Amino acid sequence: MIPSSFEYVAPKSVAEATSFLVAHPDDAKLVAGGHSLIPLMKLRLAGPKYLVDISRVPGLSEIREANGALEIGALATHHQIEASALVRERLPVLAETAALIGDVQVRNRGTIGGSLAHADPAADYPAPILALDAEISVTGPNGQRTIKATDLFVDLLTTSLKSNEVITQVRVPIPGAGTGASYQKFPHPASRYAIVGVAAVVRLNSDGICASARIGITGAGSKAERATAAEQGLVGSKLDDAALQKAGAAAAEAVDPVGDIHASAEYRRHLVREFTLRALREAASRAGR
Ligand code: FAD
Repeated sequence: MIPSSFEYVAPKSVAEATSFLVAHPDDAKLVAGGHSLIPLMKLRLAGPKYLVDISRVPGLSEIREANGALEIGALATHHQIEASALVRERLPVLAETAALIGDVQVRNRGTIGGSLAHADPAADYPAPILALDAEISVTGPNGQRTIKATDLFVDLLTTSLKSNEVITQVRVPIPGAGTGASYQKFPHPASRYAIVGVAAVVRLNSDGICASARIGITGAGSKAERATAAEQGLVGSKLDDAALQKAGAAAAEAVDPVGDIHASAEYRRHLVREFTLRALREAASRAGR
C-alpha cells in the first residue's frame, strides 16, 4: 500500500523538532527508524501531514555509563544495543532483548526511543524497561522532564508522552551485586513480536533469600505491565521451584490477556505463567547465590 502524501522535514536539533511539533499540533509526527510508523502509514492507519525526521539529530544515539546507570540515546538502534560491549557487560539482559527483536533489517533501523514511544503491546523492550526500573528523559516546549517506566505505558499504542515531546534518552540503572536478570519470550514465528515476553530481575541477599524482585510482562494485555503480586510473593523467600511456580501462577492470574488470531486469551495466560517461571529461573541462577 502507498501512504497518503506528506511533507518531510529534517530538523537539526531537538529544539527545532519540538518547535515544529508545537507549530503543527495535530498534523506532525516524529519519525526515527520508521519501522512502526511507516507500516501504519502504508496501511493508512496514520496519515500525518508532516513527517519530522529526527534520525540525523546529533547526540541522540550514544550509549554511555554515568552515575550507576547506562544512558542510552533515544536513537540507539536495536542493533547498536545488541552489539554494544558496554551494554553486554553492564546490562546483558538488554542486549539479549535487542537481539530477539524482529530481523536484521528491523534491528538496523528501529530505535529504542521509537519502540517505547510507539508502545506496541507486543514490543520487547517494555518488559525489561519495567523490570529494570528505567527512566525516560523527554524534551518538550517547557524543557526536560523524566518519566518513570511504570508511568509511561498507558494503553494500546498510548503513552504518557505529550504529542510535542521528544524522547531523548533512556536511563537504565545497572543492577548491583547479587542481582540477576533475564528476558524470555514466545515469539510470533514471522514478525518475532512477543506473543508473550517476560523480564525478571531478582536480587538475592547473602543467604540466598530474595531481597527484591521486579517482573515486566509484554504481549499479554493491551499494554506492558508489572506483575506486582508475583513480585511481592517472592520477597523474603528462597527461590526454589515451588516459589517460582507460585510466582508464575500469580502473574498469570493478574493479567487481563487479549485473544486474537495469533493466540487465545487462555493460551496467553498459560504463556505468562510459563515464561514468568523461565525468566525467574534464569534470573535467580544468574544472581548466583
Ligand atoms: P518509528 O516507526 O520511527 O516511530 C514509531 C512511533 O514513535 C511514532 O509514533 C513516532 O512519532 C514515535 N517516535 C519515534 N521516535 C521518537 C522519539 N525519540 N520521541 C518521541 N516519539 C518518537 N519490535 C519489537 O519490539 N519486537 C519485534 O520482534 C519486532 N518485530 C518487527 C518486525 C517487523 C517486520 C517490523 C517492521 C517491525 C518490528 N518491530 C518489532 C518494531 C520495531 O522494533 C520498530 O522499529 C520500533 O518499534 C519503533 O522504532 P522506530 O525507531 O522504527 O520508530
